[in-house]
Amino acid sequence: MSAVVLDSVSKVYPGGQRAVADLSLEIADGEFFVLLGPSGCGKSTTLRMVAGLEEITTGGLWLDGRLANELTPRERNVAMVFQNGALYPHRTVRDNIGFPLEIARADQAEASARVVEMARALGIDPTLDRLPGTLSGGQRQRVAMGRAIIREPAVFLMDEPLSNLDAALRTDLRVEIGGLVRGLGVTTLYVTHDQVEALTLADRIAVLRDGFLEDVGTPPQIYESPATAFVAGFLGAPQINLLAAVPEAVPGEGVVLHLGTQRLVIPWTDPRAEHVAGHHAATVILGIRSDALRPTGDPHLGPVLSGGIRTLEYHGHEWLAHIDAGVTVVDAAEVGRRVRPEPAAAGRSSGGMAGRALSLLRGGRREAAGPEPAPHVGSHRRAELLARLHSRDGYGQGSHVHLAVDLERVLIFGRDGHRVDPVLR
Ligand code: ADP
Ligand code: MG
Repeated sequence: MSAVVLDSVSKVYPGGQRAVADLSLEIADGEFFVLLGPSGCGKSTTLRMVAGLEEITTGGLWLDGRLANELTPRERNVAMVFQNGALYPHRTVRDNIGFPLEIARADQAEASARVVEMARALGIDPTLDRLPGTLSGGQRQRVAMGRAIIREPAVFLMDEPLSNLDAALRTDLRVEIGGLVRGLGVTTLYVTHDQVEALTLADRIAVLRDGFLEDVGTPPQIYESPATAFVAGFLGAPQINLLAAVPEAVPGEGVVLHLGTQRLVIPWTDPRAEHVAGHHAATVILGIRSDALRPTGDPHLGPVLSGGIRTLEYHGHEWLAHIDAGVTVVDAAEVGRRVRPEPAAAGRSSGGMAGRALSLLRGGRREAAGPEPAPHVGSHRRAELLARLHSRDGYGQGSHVHLAVDLERVLIFGRDGHRVDPVLR
């Protein structure tokens, strides 16, 4: 039986803001399920509707087979951890963690043993007699988590519990949460905008955008075979190369994809050829991850894209080459967008989210794959292709580089951002 079912759930806030649109999800008993998406896409609203903190406008919420729309938060038997795990400031760590057991009037000796056990599992047992004000951010978040878990709720809800911590702590706590929650086997709905958290923690991920569900699947499904160009662009670092191409079906050869003056050929033996041939002379979008590009000395052997290196960035374990290749970059944030952002919301997110602003700036000649042109932001022109180099190997600014393309890993999307070939889940 599915532990949590959302059946065409929508949320319209009193001001008329539609935060969640027709969302259907089935979360299995014991599953670690992650809601992923950029700021403002409706993740918290969804979580709060499951918790009973926000009314559901239309649609059905089922918890453990029971229609739950009208149940109070307490009746739902869920526990929630927020970004700033709010603690009772005048209670010790011990009393904070034990609070839910106190409310439930659990046996005292048993409860105190359980609190100690929980604190040990979370690595905060030395802090048991301290007040929250004397703890670090990471310790406070552990206490909040302990308090949520201790009652063993039917569903565990977490809203960006790690996003206020610094990078090293975030990684530590991420690994611990994964282990702890899995050990308990409690159904978990975890919200984050961080694709690394989603990929590393989830059994399955749902990607939201502007309140709509873009894709749902296991981490490898979402990463290797995303349903849309937006999802491809949201997962993975460095960001996937999204390039405009014009397909030409050539009998005997295959589908020739024209990228400016360059070309890649999908042979007819490739099952994708037939699908992309249906877009003959239209525009498609190629998704090529930087690790599907490998420098080669021989531009005539197999599929190759070539260009001049504009910038080489040192990343320690590798070099990242920004390459001008005379191709047209597509903006993942804009492809196939179903709603326009409100002016206020757009201003907020481009101010606050560097990634978003960068993706808008990426590429000089830009292809708007949707019906409306992509917004023009600034005049700064970024390079068109990102590729990883294992060593600097005689490459430098201005050097010409040939990149062998791993054709099998090239993703092909239509102008609307949806994959041209069937997406298997
Ligand atoms: P996320 O958690 O993904 O960042 P939210 O669920 O918080 O997104 O918000 C989704 C959308 O709903 C946003 O456009 C946000 O501005 C709007 N929103 C959130 N809370 C309210 C509210 N209480 N009243 C009106 N609009 C809201
Ligand atoms: Mg949120």
